Amino acid sequence: MSESTDTDVIVVGGGLVGLAAAAFLAQHGVRTTVFEKHPTTSIHPKARLVTVRSMELYRSLGIEEEIRAAGDQGNGFVIGQTLSDDLSTWIAPPAEDVESGNLSPTSPYSCDQQVLEPLVLNAARRFGAEVEFDSAVLGLAERADHVEATVRHAGQERIVSAQFVIAADGAGSAIRRHLGISMSGTEVPGRSVSAVFRADLSPALRGRFVDAVFCRAASTFLFARGNSGDRRWQMGTYVRPDWEGRPTEDLTDELSGLLRQATGLSDLEPDFDDVATWSTGAFVADRFRSGRIVLAGDAAHIMPPYGGMGGNTGVHDAHDAAWILAAVIRGDASHRLLDTYERERRPIDQVIVDQALLRSRKSPGQKEASGEIDALTLALGQRYGAPPGEEFEDPHEPSMADGTRAPHLTWRDGRSVHDLLSRRQFTAIVDGPITRTDSRAEFVALGRGDVATGQRDLWANTYGRAVGHLVRPDGVLAGEFEALDDVPGLIDRALHIR
Ligand SMILES: Cc1cc2nc3c(=O)[nH]c(=O)nc-3n(C[C@H](O)[C@H](O)[C@H](O)COP(=O)(O)OP(=O)(O)OC[C@H]3O[C@@H](n4cnc5c(N)ncnc54)[C@H](O)[C@@H]3O)c2cc1C
Repeated sequence: MSESTDTDVIVVGGGLVGLAAAAFLAQHGVRTTVFEKHPTTSIHPKARLVTVRSMELYRSLGIEEEIRAAGDQGNGFVIGQTLSDDLSTWIAPPAEDVESGNLSPTSPYSCDQQVLEPLVLNAARRFGAEVEFDSAVLGLAERADHVEATVRHAGQERIVSAQFVIAADGAGSAIRRHLGISMSGTEVPGRSVSAVFRADLSPALRGRFVDAVFCRAASTFLFARGNSGDRRWQMGTYVRPDWEGRPTEDLTDELSGLLRQATGLSDLEPDFDDVATWSTGAFVADRFRSGRIVLAGDAAHIMPPYGGMGGNTGVHDAHDAAWILAAVIRGDASHRLLDTYERERRPIDQVIVDQALLRSRKSPGQKEASGEIDALTLALGQRYGAPPGEEFEDPHEPSMADGTRAPHLTWRDGRSVHDLLSRRQFTAIVDGPITRTDSRAEFVALGRGDVATGQRDLWANTYGRAVGHLVRPDGVLAGEFEALDDVPGLIDRALHIR
């Protein structure tokens, strides 16, 4: 990597997406520095659902098991009159019931954002990323061949230069505004209140486990927080008209009353840790990049939290941006590769934002809405470069088209095909002898004879049609080949160098 700048990539914002971007970039060997204005990772619980694709990406960082230990299997999202009543109607089934067994080496999981972020932070640091807290980026100046950030830490300002910047500075992104990038979409009316509290809800649960409940009696969501050994709770409800304008700490009497209604426990005395109000919308940035500055996460899209997709989508942005920036910084790719980030992510993110909006308009407990795409397809069926309206495909029937995720199959020793993919280079999966190579790819000899018994038909129906498949460093298919001599040309094409 070039030493002419202080670092290769500056990531502005050490939230979930910024930290994930740093981990992916550093895994590629890119010098990466994150500046986060707060003193620590986030403290208010927000995201909890980790999709199966995000789990695959965390697995590639080596933190799947840490997340499993820190989080929960996921006990599902139910609806009831109160927490004490019958809770057998699912809004979303438990994570382990989501049929991803044959499709992925991992499964969706539940891990609170404030627990997950330190794990991603540790991974980023293990790969060599620098993460500086209490460090606010005050401004960016783009020069011909680098970007300069003015950073304030402990009252001191300094200039830090980098080849590229990832703006992961959240929904209010000052960088997006500075770049003059507007957002298109729609407001979601109303404001919500979110309160974290401690209370013994076991008299209502009577040995039952839930992740999330909508209690009709009080129009209130209850979310289990922490893991099953350490149950804190979070309530979510809409801001009542007579609460408007009042400080959030003055609302605890009203919130306690709602909680008694919601739980059916008339003598409940909740102990509130944190009360916050929030509003949302469904917006996507009109551009995802300006010169050397790339937007990712909430800086690029804002969506209602229904379906738990905001953070996951941002992590996927970061994963795509990381391999592209790494290839350009290494000098392997032309700068034209940078254009593919917006071309690939924006249409996908637009559909996901639309899906979150659709889910937000459903009444609790309502089954599938017309036009709803299921969670598994949204997580695993993304198709980069597909025509409008075809951005997602059924992951049970992978098309093997360029721009789709390399399907998972189990190898004879129990490992997944995914575990054989290079994280830093292309991978050529070859069904036959390897008679020539290319320094930009790892060549893996893997044919239908090597996959687990019972999966051979699957192999024949997916990977088995050609001599081999080229997979990008982000696990996305980049072309099938009939001869090994075709591999260098496919890599050139994927890197946009001809
Ligand atoms: C109630 C609720 C439930 C949710 N549930 C889910 C869920 O289950 N699954 C899911 O995937 N998503 C969920 N989400 C969405 C998810 O929380 C967000 O999408 C996610 O936090 C976005 O991460 P981010 O890193 O892009 O932005 P943020 O988390 O907002 O992080 C941005 C960071 O940038 C920092 N920053 C900003 N400006 C500067 C600057 N100039 N210098 C330095 N630092 C700066 C900020 O301090 C902040 O730490 C939920 C959201 C809510 C509100």
